[in-house]
Amino acid sequence: MNNQPILAGADLVKKFRVASRGKTATLLTALDGVSLLVGAGETLGIAGESGCGKSTLARVMAGLMKPEQGSVCYRGVQLSALSAAEHARFRRSTQMIFQDPFSSLNPRMRIGDSIAEPLKIAGIPAARQREEVARIMNTVGLDAGLINRFPDEFSGGQRQRIGIARALAAKPEILIADEPVSSLDISIQAQIINLLMQMKSDFNLSMMIISHNLMVLRHVCDRIIVMYLGSVVEIAPAAALFNRCMHPYTEALIAAIPGFTDASNDKKTLLKDDLPSPTSIPSGCRFHPRCRYAVEICRQESPPLTEYAAGHEAACHLSRQLFG
Ligand code: SF4
Repeated sequence: MNNQPILAGADLVKKFRVASRGKTATLLTALDGVSLLVGAGETLGIAGESGCGKSTLARVMAGLMKPEQGSVCYRGVQLSALSAAEHARFRRSTQMIFQDPFSSLNPRMRIGDSIAEPLKIAGIPAARQREEVARIMNTVGLDAGLINRFPDEFSGGQRQRIGIARALAAKPEILIADEPVSSLDISIQAQIINLLMQMKSDFNLSMMIISHNLMVLRHVCDRIIVMYLGSVVEIAPAAALFNRCMHPYTEALIAAIPGFTDASNDKKTLLKDDLPSPTSIPSGCRFHPRCRYAVEICRQESPPLTEYAAGHEAACHLSRQLFG
């Protein structure tokens, strides 16, 4: 892996105003000071429970959503400072793959036309577009004879292949995949993950994969970021995270993987209670209401991200005492 970041986010803050009937609007904190970078050729995983801010982070990094604070840089230049031509390059270079490929495809458009859209934008002559679409369909394991079909004529796994084909047509540098297999049958999930990894290797792509499934991330990622209530609680090389995590939340997520460690038989290690509402972030360490190790300082002071080994950081007052 080359450490030159292609995409970097610094101190990203994103809040949403949520209103429920009869009540005054409240602010939901989706991202609260998140920093990260994606190196050339790197696969970076983003883990955490639903509601921890993973999908918002994906959209902010892809330039689909603006943060209230902080910045996203593409090849060292802030998105807000890119020229029109550079911004067009960024949009082409950074492609998203969504959890539900059906909702990202126009149901009235033939799949050949959907896949060809980035080719049209890139000015590829119409005569060559069909040839190129057929080639990309073959690359992702779709029968090019189906080019004139509509999205509803395909299975979930095939639709995700169409989504990947559409992303590849733009000749991206980075794929940002938001829960790319969670809506698929278990039997299809491995096929799609393997396809993504094959594409990454064949086209020398960088990748951000957002998933609540840590085992998927362990299988494919170089590094993993663990998020909790809009904040990063641990960053580590994938192997280090599983060999010796440094945060109680990560420990609990790993313990919840059936049969993965002895701790998965230890009910005390498992998470208690549900994720608190992001409209009311706990004081001090935001994980303290669910942490079995919490002491007084945890309720008072927010722990900073601290490096414990090369590339391995965690935000916990007790990391050293608990994990060595
Ligand atoms: Fe648990 Fe305290 Fe560490 Fe937070 S700082 S994870 S509450 S031990």
